[in-house]
Amino acid sequence: NDRRRLQFNITRYGNREHLLLVRDVTRLYQLEQMRKDFVANVSHELRTPLTVIAGYLETLLDNVEAVNPRWLRALQQMQQQGARMQTLLNDLLLLAKLEATDYPSDNQPVAADLMLLSIKNDAQALSGDQLHRISLEADPHLKLKGSEAELRSAFSNLVFNAVKYTPAGGDIRIRWWSDEKGAHLSVSDTGMGIEAKHVPRLTERFYRVDSSRASNTGGTGLGLAIVKHVLLRHRGNLEISSVPGKGSTFTCHFAPAQVVQRAR
Ligand code: ADP
Repeated sequence: NDRRRLQFNITRYGNREHLLLVRDVTRLYQLEQMRKDFVANVSHELRTPLTVIAGYLETLLDNVEAVNPRWLRALQQMQQQGARMQTLLNDLLLLAKLEATDYPSDNQPVAADLMLLSIKNDAQALSGDQLHRISLEADPHLKLKGSEAELRSAFSNLVFNAVKYTPAGGDIRIRWWSDEKGAHLSVSDTGMGIEAKHVPRLTERFYRVDSSRASNTGGTGLGLAIVKHVLLRHRGNLEISSVPGKGSTFTCHFAPAQVVQRAR
């Protein structure tokens, strides 16, 4: 639309004087909007051909006896990388959707304890024979207003990261509780931890502490950006504390207005 966007900045000098700065950021805003639309459109357009390619590869690999054994490894690699690209496109599309509006797509009371239980089971499956010990303490009376799908993608990103970045046999602890400041979800691990200088940038798109390490884990580099956006929309924020070599704790804090406490 042709509404102008202005940014106001007031600076105080001494006791009486103020400086009011008005900046016209309409063009900047439009460019940002174009960037978002472009990313969403490209991701969407790339998805269809990729689905077709993945479909043919699946058919080929389903008939493995008809495939020249010399090509088998190459086809499996193509399938694996195709799946990675599909995950990346899905994450890009989700992020574009989250950036498009300021509020969650739904406003239902979400039973996070049940959701966390199913995320915990998925995480245990992801851990496989690495045998992480995953514990969950969740208040069954505590619910959060918002979108179940969005919260699930945020919480599962945090729990799956804990598995990905914790060596085999490590401990992962998930807690969901409330107090006078609101509701809180924390995911702690005994993993590799993160150096303090990286922490402020972790929620940036594609930011990774170590890109070679991240490509082994199959991550997209978008997980924590998704977490940040989902929390913002649910009046929440993310706190990260970490000790390199010891482990990390990611805590989501939600404002009291977002909390539904069922009568006990
Ligand atoms: P990725 O897909 O690479 O996991 P994320 O946005 O989820 O992307 O995370 C960004 C980076 O933050 C990761 O590449 C990793 O370096 C670091 N990170 C995230 N969670 C943890 C954790 N629990 N322990 C150590 N490092 C982590």
